[in-house]
Amino acid sequence: MSRYIRACLALALLALAGPLPGSSALQPPSAGPAHEPPLAAQASYRIPGTLPDLADRAFVLCWHSFLGQADIPTDFSLAELGSQLDELLALGYRFISLEDLVFGRFSGGLNLVATLDDGHRTVPAAYAKVFAARGILPSVFVYPAVLGMTTYSMKADDVRSLRDSGCLVGVHGYYHLFVNEQLYRSDRAAFEREIFTAKDKVEALTGLPAYVYAYPFGALSPISKTEVERAGYAFAFAVRRGFVFADPRLNDPYELPRSVVTRDNWQELFAFLHRNAR
Ligand SMILES: [Zn+2]
Repeated sequence: MSRYIRACLALALLALAGPLPGSSALQPPSAGPAHEPPLAAQASYRIPGTLPDLADRAFVLCWHSFLGQADIPTDFSLAELGSQLDELLALGYRFISLEDLVFGRFSGGLNLVATLDDGHRTVPAAYAKVFAARGILPSVFVYPAVLGMTTYSMKADDVRSLRDSGCLVGVHGYYHLFVNEQLYRSDRAAFEREIFTAKDKVEALTGLPAYVYAYPFGALSPISKTEVERAGYAFAFAVRRGFVFADPRLNDPYELPRSVVTRDNWQELFAFLHRNAR
């Protein structure tokens, strides 16, 4: 690494950290060769962009159903959901929309995004009574095979109603299969149905472009990302702990991190977000 790059990194870090104790102003390094222009002048013609900013970040949460059945790890009552959201808001977090997230329209480190997977029939009530009541706009990820087809799923009109409320509707497979290399090799038609046909179906349902994908079970392989991109999605969510950054250079758009909220992990997840808030 050249002295110039080291100096620029040092300057950027110092600028982020604020003035040093005992120094009222940042002084340029004094040991540089005499022929080099001042650092500020170098910056104007050598730096191709700005340094990535880790401070502007958001954390994406995923819930599933709201029956209040304690024996289902991913299920909560509406009251439990409300308490979770209130605890997070009390830490100073605010909820931004998924759309603002993927296009980097946010700042600071206390941003959350709510997503609801699988299109359970309890989602509309959760939206109306819990999320909307708190001014939170969640996004929903649905898979067409069950919509209106099972007793536990939303109907098409439910999805359209959420769309009308401003909820982004994303794609979560067609039959909710493992969209990975194994499926790609064993059943190409099924693999493509999970990505391509699912997109067509969801777009026909909402009348809007479906440009965000959530891998069912969070399962993916390199070929999954390639095909999701080829299908025309602009973003895709995996399941892993991590932040989405406002600076797109820090994100993999086809493997954005997202965390599923379960009865088993809520306390630990909350503790993590508590530490982040400090
Ligand atoms: Zn799912």
